[in-house]
Amino acid sequence: MSVLNKFKLDSKVSIITGAAMGLGKSMAQALAEAGSDIVIADINLKEAKAAAEEIRNQTGVKVLPIKTDVTNENEVNLMADKVIERFEKIDVLFNNAGITIHEKAEEMSFADWKKVIDINLNGPFLVSKAVGKKMIQQKSGSIVNISSMSGLIANTPQPQSSYNTSKAGVIMLTKSLASEWAKHNIKVNTIAPGYMQTELTRPFYEENAEMVKTWADMTPMGRPGKPEELQGIALYLASEASSFVTGSVFTVDGGYTAW
Ligand code: NAD
Repeated sequence: MSVLNKFKLDSKVSIITGAAMGLGKSMAQALAEAGSDIVIADINLKEAKAAAEEIRNQTGVKVLPIKTDVTNENEVNLMADKVIERFEKIDVLFNNAGITIHEKAEEMSFADWKKVIDINLNGPFLVSKAVGKKMIQQKSGSIVNISSMSGLIANTPQPQSSYNTSKAGVIMLTKSLASEWAKHNIKVNTIAPGYMQTELTRPFYEENAEMVKTWADMTPMGRPGKPEELQGIALYLASEASSFVTGSVFTVDGGYTAW
């Protein structure tokens, strides 16, 4: 097989959580361009439907939006069942849905702490469990967890201990699942992005010039990433091109963690 053909995803089925907008939507577009049918599993059904329409029109693949709260085990299981009912298999899963709350550790409420851990870490576990069961039956699959460089370093100046902790957990969840499921021919990897301009970070770019300058000054490339700058690694990890890769962390951060 030629190397370019290894990146093709024709007749594959990919679920991306939190793909109604931001990085998830951009990665869904990349997988769709490579030929994969797409499931957008997002808590925001209105935005998920709009994103589905856009990707369908751009690429011609089938795109199914399903209202899914990744912290709700019942909804997650129903989502996985619905995908099997509609497409009969699941080849690729991106655990991408995530949030951040900036609060000093000494002031953060336990409810806020649990909310971040629930969406960012318990969510990927629940979705991986539901989808992993199907992939084990199929004896194949590729799971990509979206962590963050904040899972490798404690970011400054913003106080976000819950976020950093959740994303470090995602990296260890990745390694653990990779170790358990390699025998089932399932790859599990993680992408650790640096600062990217999306809805998640928009308030900071719009309202906190000083913090954004600090971020840029601490990034060798001197700028934030654009969502489409994750598309290459997303396609690599989803596809046959990464056939000998599992349990790995891929930083895409303009050099931030190199200093
Ligand atoms: P975003 O806010 O633009 O999009 C997040 C998406 O997740 C939205 O569509 C939202 O509806 C969905 N979502 C939120 N809670 C959900 C839930 N409980 N169940 C299902 N869907 C839910 O965020 P983004 O910037 O695109 O971030 C995507 C991922 O990348 C997150 O895990 C984030 O932590 C990570 N990340 C982002 C950056 C960055 O700078 N933007 C950097 C590193 C890592």
